[in-house]
Amino acid sequence: MLLGRACFKAGKMEISMNIIKIQPGDLLHLKKPHPCGCADFLVMRVGSRVRLICKGCGRDMTVDRMKLEKAIKTITVSEQEQNTGKDIPE
Ligand SMILES: [Zn+2]
Repeated sequence: MLLGRACFKAGKMEISMNIIKIQPGDLLHLKKPHPCGCADFLVMRVGSRVRLICKGCGRDMTVDRMKLEKAIKTITVSEQEQNTGKDIPE
């Protein structure tokens, strides 16, 4: 049973390689900067739409997730939120 579960997890990880993972607390560097000139945004909330806060002027905005994923240049993952590989029984 344990072995079967490990195999399933490995398969899941391969798929997620193509998906951009965004989590609250992550810092996004976008290709297109905010009108204030800053291209770094802090993720506040993630769903089908993502709420971001501009690091330059502090303005918050909601962006469609699909559009946002295309605009991301780099993601700096928050150190506190990195423990998502944990085994959580469902
Ligand atoms: Zn700004």
